[in-house]
Amino acid sequence: MKLTKLFEEDKLSLSFEVFPPKVDTNFESVKHATEEIAKLHPSFMSVTYGAGGGTSKYTLDIAENIKKMYDVPTLAHLTCVSSTKETVHAKIEEIKAAGIANVMALRGDLTPELEASDRSKWHYHHAIDLVRELKESNADFCIGGACYPEIHPESANQKEDIKYLKEKVDAGCEFLTTQMFFDNNLLYNFLYKIREAGITVPIIPGIMPITNANQVDRAIKLSGSFMPQRFKSLVDKFGSDPAAMKQAGIAYATDQIIDLYANGIKNVHVYSMNKPDVAAKIQSNLSDILGK
Ligand code: FAD
Repeated sequence: MKLTKLFEEDKLSLSFEVFPPKVDTNFESVKHATEEIAKLHPSFMSVTYGAGGGTSKYTLDIAENIKKMYDVPTLAHLTCVSSTKETVHAKIEEIKAAGIANVMALRGDLTPELEASDRSKWHYHHAIDLVRELKESNADFCIGGACYPEIHPESANQKEDIKYLKEKVDAGCEFLTTQMFFDNNLLYNFLYKIREAGITVPIIPGIMPITNANQVDRAIKLSGSFMPQRFKSLVDKFGSDPAAMKQAGIAYATDQIIDLYANGIKNVHVYSMNKPDVAAKIQSNLSDILGK
């Protein structure tokens, strides 16, 4: 199912993200975790492509398995910056063959090796190049892209970031998923600015439940997200008690989702990080709102 169909519905929908194993030997345990999340019947599941240290080779295996076994719509991520045209074309054919209708077109992070390499030799420089490639393929994909309420770290300023975002949408992105954020006001402010810039596609806020104190530094480093005092106090109070921190982190994420829905956002994506218990708890916290 194309996600555009889901976005037409007028109720809260929750989707979850999973990532492929970091090493081959973990494939079965990751597959099991993703299946446990699929059993919750989220509105869709996204499978990352080599992000956070996961390998890219299992993205399609996991996405196809979830779709076939649990009838959950899937969104396969694909990055382009370190790839050749041939590799990307082959991947597009594989996605088509797997019957996956939704693709998240990403540039991918610039590793130090890439940064040091000769950019004139790169075939893909930005996610927009992949969006165009996907549009040119003969598949009728629903294409998504990433966006950054707190600005992409490489952007000089928000105006420039939004200008390129508009170009990406105009090239064929039908929805945008946000980087994680911990203060909903940042999202509302971002929404106002992008709507003003003429970006009208659905925006899916990405919510990261922080369930242990070690995750905080990693999350900030990865995303550059602002940590509101309310969240810092929670980490100070519960950070040394794993069970309490997990409960507080899930409650914080749930609260963010309720506030988003109360303010007109219908589709929320949860960075569930291969943790079925966290996904299940958030879903059960929202059961009456979701009607599940
Ligand atoms: P782009 O859209 O290309 O933007 C990157 C930077 O370039 C921005 O500063 C932008 O303003 C600028 N820019 C864009 N177009 C142009 C242009 N034409 N000219 C000049 N500047 C331009 N990484 C993975 O490796 N695998 C994943 O599965 C993955 N999933 C993600 C999912 C989400 C929702 C998000 C938010 C990020 C994800 N990432 C993933 C991380 C992502 O690859 C990085 O954030 C990367 O640095 C940027 O990717 P992008 O697609 O946003 O790039």
